[in-house]
Parts: sequence; C-alpha cells; structure tokens
Amino acid sequence: MPDSEFPTPIRKLLTEGGLEPDAPLEHRIFTNRDLNLDRISLVGFDMDYTLAIYRQDAIEELSIRSTTAKLIARGYPEMLKEVDADPRFAIRGLMVDKRLGNVIKMDRHGYVGRGYHGGRRLDGNERKEIYRAQRLGQEQERFAPVDTLFALPEVTLFAALVDLIDEHPELWPGASPPGYPEAWQDVRECIDEAHRDGSIKDLVRQDPGRYIDRDPHLPETLHKFRSAGKKLFVLTNSFFPYSNAVMEYLLGDSLPSYADWTSYFDWVVVGSGKPGFFGDGRAFQELSRNGDPVGPPKADVQRGKIYQGGNQHGLQASFGVHPDEVMYVGDHIYGDIVRSKKSSGWRTALVVQELEQELAVRRARSITLQEIDALYALRARIAAEVSSQRHQSRALNRLTVEELVARGERDGPEAEALLEQARASARRRVERLRAYEEEVHGTLERRSKEVDEAFNPYWGSSFTERHDTSRFGSQVEYYACVYTSRVSNFRYVSPAKYFISPQGSMPHWQVR
Ligand code: IMP
Ligand code: MG
Repeated sequence: MPDSEFPTPIRKLLTEGGLEPDAPLEHRIFTNRDLNLDRISLVGFDMDYTLAIYRQDAIEELSIRSTTAKLIARGYPEMLKEVDADPRFAIRGLMVDKRLGNVIKMDRHGYVGRGYHGGRRLDGNERKEIYRAQRLGQEQERFAPVDTLFALPEVTLFAALVDLIDEHPELWPGASPPGYPEAWQDVRECIDEAHRDGSIKDLVRQDPGRYIDRDPHLPETLHKFRSAGKKLFVLTNSFFPYSNAVMEYLLGDSLPSYADWTSYFDWVVVGSGKPGFFGDGRAFQELSRNGDPVGPPKADVQRGKIYQGGNQHGLQASFGVHPDEVMYVGDHIYGDIVRSKKSSGWRTALVVQELEQELAVRRARSITLQEIDALYALRARIAAEVSSQRHQSRALNRLTVEELVARGERDGPEAEALLEQARASARRRVERLRAYEEEVHGTLERRSKEVDEAFNPYWGSSFTERHDTSRFGSQVEYYACVYTSRVSNFRYVSPAKYFISPQGSMPHWQVR
C-alpha cells in the first residue's frame, strides 16, 4: 500500500520516521560522552538560565543598579553610580583574584593567559610574574570562580571598584578605601542581598518580557519529550513566587492541551538548594498552589505536586528510576552539572547560552580560523627546523681545523676555508628560518587578535585560550554529557536519539 493511503498519524510517522534533518549550526547539540535518550525516562530542568533565557544586558543592568545602591548605602562613594560598566567585560569561566584585585582567564591547565587589574590589561611580563607559579585549584580562599551568568555583574562591578580604589582613594572618609578582598566581599554580599530581598526579582516579575526571552519553541520541545513517554520535572533554586511567575511567563497560554505551566511537569521542586540537593538528605516540603507549606515535611515526593527543598534520592525513589535514567538539563557547571554528575550519577545536558554567538563568530571567521590553525602547524614545523639547524650549527662550531687535518681530509688552509663556508651557510639558514618564524608569529598575532576581537574584545572566546581549550571549555567538555545553546534545540532531535561522541582527541591519536 502506498504511504499516502495510511491514516494521517501513521503517514506522519512514516514520513518523519527517518533521520532528522540537521539543525542549524547554532542550534545543534554537541556530544562529549555517549548518551542514549531512549534510555532516559526522566528529564529534569533547571529554571534560571536554562528554561528561562535571560536578556543578559537588561538583567545585568538591573543587577548592577541594585547592587550599586546597596554598596553606596554601606558607605561606598556615590561616584560608583557614574561608573559606566561595559557588559562585555565579564564572561563565564573567569577567576577573580580577590587578593590582588585582578580578573584572570586560564587555559585548561590552569595557566593564566590574560588578565586585568580593574580595567587595565596586565601586560605579559606582569602577568607571568604574578601567575607563573599559580595553578588553578590552589588557594581557594584567594580565587573566586565565575561560573554562572548571574555572576557576571559582580565581576564588572568589582573591576570598577578596583579602579576607583586605586584612582580615587580620597572618595572614602579619611582616604582609606577598603582592601580588594574586602571590596569583593562587599560586592558579593550586596549582590546576594539583591537576589534575596526582591530588588532584582520583584522587577523581573513585574515585567518579565523585559528581562526574559520567551522561547516560542519551548512548549513544543517539552511536549515532544512527553509524547515520547518521558517524565519531566523542574528543579530550581528559585523559590515559589518567583518560579511561578517566570514559568507562567514562559509556558502559560501555550499549547491548548496543557492547562497551565505545571501540567508540563510531573514534579516541580523549588528552593532546591542545589548543590546541597545532591548530597544532603533534606526533607521535601509540599507547597500549595499559593506557595504555602502544606503538612509536615516528607522524605519523598508524589506526582503533580509542588515541593520545596528535598533531595535527589527521594526524587528518584518516588519515581523508581536508577540515576543513569535521569538526564538533568542545567546551566551551572558546578551546582547543576558537576555535582549532579559526581555525586548523583545523573546524565547531564549543559545549556551554554554563549554558544550561539560563539558558533556564529566561528562560522563568520571560519577562513581566518583555518588560517590560524595552519599557521600554528607551520610555526611548530619551523620551530622544529630551527632547533635542528641550531644543533647542526653548534656541531659545526665545535669541529676544528686540526680535526679535519688530522683525519687527512684536507690541508690546513683549505680545511679552514671549507669549515668557514659551512658555518656561514648554517648561520644563514638559521637566520632565514628565524625571520620566517617571526613573520609567521606576527601574522598569527594579528589574525588571533582579529578573531578574539570578534568573540569578545577583552577575553576572546569563552571556550579557548591561546589555541588551547580554556578552563571553562574543558569543564564543559569534562562534565557535560551533551551541551547546547538552549533547551528548545532538543526539538530538532528524536527523543530516542543516541548521541555518540566523536572520537577523542589525544595528541598521539592524530598520528596515523
Ligand atoms: P536556578 O538556576 O533555577 O537553580 O536558580 C538560580 C537561583 O539562584 C535564582 O533564584 C537566582 O536569583 C539565585 N542566585 C543566583 N546568583 C545568586 C547570588 O549570587 N546570590 C544569591 N542568589 C543567587
Ligand atoms: Mg540556572
């Protein structure tokens, strides 16, 4: 029977049943570790920066404004209000050196590739002088990682404060400004307070459209998971009133078959206290639809209810799943991904909003990026050639006329002339290669600067640092099973998709 004669639902399945078309580059899902969606029965979602995509400029401006007001109330100079903070200054993956007032970016080995003191870029010597011996992971007291997009404004503000402390100490009473670590602590506390006391959240709730990008494809994406028989849950650190408002904005009045936002999910857990959720055995507190506590706290949860707090084991137990049947989609490397992978055994999908711009730039600059790769390879070959020529040149320098004469090859004057000739030609070869090396180095610097500028004028790409993976990039690679720019990219793939990681990339595997 021809396909066209089947009833519509069967016909649809027959025509759509094959391989799904490739999503546009910016919407692809990238695989670090094999993940079979068919084996996943429960999919959990973080809310902020995962289901809810914030408009970074707007939320950052709000965050900076409310934090600045709090700092001024603590005695910081009024002038802080006038500091115009460039939102491009902070990106994810940076580290704040609280002691020295610097912000730094590292490669995957913890080598500091660039840094700023306040708004001033550290030059190479200064940077190496300070951080030569510094490797990431040491001195946790001294360094603060920047690993969520919520944390970007505090970095921008801290850098502005460092400049103010250095350049205008007279603005503080008695001309005694705080030390950098104290300034950092104050920024942290004020931002924390702004998140807690409603300075940020009340304004977002009043006008969510200004701060949150309502992804029109989110409802169909969740529906696609559900139609494939998967159970879904929300697990957020935000508390009920805020979560309710944000989720209502994202999913209210969307698909007719879903009465309200909660009907997309089998479980909703607010105020989950991640990463503690993955470790502690805290009880779940059931909430009414108004957000009020109902009954005593319980160890596990039931479908269709809203809970606060709780723990991973209770969630799994009530659903009867093994940890590896759960996929958790989140944006926070540490709180959502590292902890859920390390201590819970859940499979992980990381939402990296920055990927959209990253991929767009990579596409627009693909020729330059290829040229850079080729130049690096060329530079390595020249360096190898220079060292071998140098070695040869030194051996020629060690060879004496007496040795040549003693071996009976030539008489004295002739041996001397020949040796001189050979030495001069070796020197010329090294010089030529050195000049070539310098030329390649210069082009490489120019091209790298060009693409860095396109990614981010202060830091280049979030994912790389000097032709290597950045610390952030390596965390994405190591901890997330798959990663993508937004949740709705899952609509492009089958809910039974087997994500297969490309073969690994150890240097010796490149040799064939
Ligand atoms: P989630 O990503 O849905 O788990 O929610 C993250 C929650 O953490 C949001 O409610 C944020 O307002 C809150 N948050 C993010 N950064 C900070 C902070 O620096 N201090 C306090 N709360 C924060
Ligand atoms: Mg989040």
